[in-house]
Amino acid sequence: MKLWAAPQQPLPWAAAFTRWATNSPVAASGLALVLVALVATLDQATGYELRFAILYLVPIALATWAGGLRAGVAIVAVSSLFWLVSFGSTHPYKGDFFFYWEGVAMVVIDIAFVLLLARLRFALTRADERFVRVLEELHAAVYVADQDSGRILYANRSLARMIDTDPRTLSAEDLGKRFGLGEVTTESVLGEHKELIDAEFVSREVRDPMSGRWYQVQVVPIPWKSSRSVSVQVITDISEKKRAKALKQQHQDMLHQTARLAALAEIATSLAHEVNQPLMAIASYNDACLRLLAAPVFDKAQVVTALQRSREQALRAGRIIGRVRDFIRSKRPSPTHFDINALVRESLELLENQLEDSAVTAELSLSEGLPMTHADRTLLIQVIVNLVQNAIDAMDKSPPSSRRLGVSTAKAADGAIVVSIADQGEGIPEAISVRLYTPLFSTKSHGLGLGLSICRSVLEAHGGRIWHSTNPDGGCTFHFTLPPEID
Ligand code: ADP
Repeated sequence: MKLWAAPQQPLPWAAAFTRWATNSPVAASGLALVLVALVATLDQATGYELRFAILYLVPIALATWAGGLRAGVAIVAVSSLFWLVSFGSTHPYKGDFFFYWEGVAMVVIDIAFVLLLARLRFALTRADERFVRVLEELHAAVYVADQDSGRILYANRSLARMIDTDPRTLSAEDLGKRFGLGEVTTESVLGEHKELIDAEFVSREVRDPMSGRWYQVQVVPIPWKSSRSVSVQVITDISEKKRAKALKQQHQDMLHQTARLAALAEIATSLAHEVNQPLMAIASYNDACLRLLAAPVFDKAQVVTALQRSREQALRAGRIIGRVRDFIRSKRPSPTHFDINALVRESLELLENQLEDSAVTAELSLSEGLPMTHADRTLLIQVIVNLVQNAIDAMDKSPPSSRRLGVSTAKAADGAIVVSIADQGEGIPEAISVRLYTPLFSTKSHGLGLGLSICRSVLEAHGGRIWHSTNPDGGCTFHFTLPPEID
């Protein structure tokens, strides 16, 4: 099996001749015989004055290359016979010994030549076969394409399996389109530096629209005798890897969600337990008051005492709630100095997977020269993550082409830093607009309704604020401010 099919451009004559000889061993051996006869005739015609016998090496080489060791040895035998028969009677040597000596030396040299050439050919074929075998056994699909002629020069078995078609029936353009290689051509890889032979692989992840599977496509231009636009493409199925990554992310999200729910449940249970007692006491004092007031004659002092005790219990309930609030707030922010643009980038990196899986493109427009800010980085990352996550959820039903997220930073007239997160989602209906920041308000089946209220608490604790607006071309934008660092 040959590894490379010939490129379309005309080959140099020597290469074409070698190819012909390799592919037609019988015809090549026939030609070798004709050449032997020609050399013998020339020798005979010139009376062995010019000693053409050295030219027997040409047909011997041809026969060995085309037909292997046996064909080479056969041509050596035929040429030696010609030499022996025709030169035997006319040789100029004084004795026959010298004639036979020359004959033996010639045969030994010819056989050594045949052995060397046959060995070389064998080694080349073996190397070629081993290389092809490695490529054929690869799990990844590999093909070589000539961008100029659009021809697939080589494709391994995995490619046929992957696309469920014989790749030879397709053009480089067809395959390029299918695997999103439109812009990854040799030209784009090398740019103006076509002389670079060791160009690096260009790699990208693409989704095959026909099978829905994910592939990593790597392209590298390779030097090719007669064409400058030949490249090797290696396509690896990474669907399982992607799925495992998504599953891991899902587990992390679930853990996160469960931890939040567990914390909430704990707070709610202890609150219910502690507040229940004073509430029950208030109810009993109220009952007592009602009973006293129902009697035609009652002791005013008793009613006052009951009402005072009821008031004390109500204050106690208030203190319990205050304690819980203090406990939650006791996790004070630990502010540091940082650049808001770096924080925005860091937050988006955390959401890289979700953005990619939801086919949302993030467009950043970060103002240069913003003042540093002084805030709790972790809490602010949580704010940005919440807002971006909401934006991703809001664009869930939008067509993929309009799932664009715009994140910008700017400086307001009063010097405050403004961060805006815009989406192209479903927008916010007027009716619910005022309730968004209320704890536990959510329109999502899986929502907790705590995101925006937490964002507001965090920002207000830092001296900032949060609000939202409707985009003229659909979707909405959440804005928040942070005071600049004061020197
Ligand atoms: P959750 O995300 O758990 O529902 P949030 O407090 O973060 O809680 O959001 C409250 C509600 O605000 C959401 O359920 C949704 O209805 C609405 N909302 C938030 N962000 C957006 C947005 N970018 N586009 C449309 N609606 C939004």
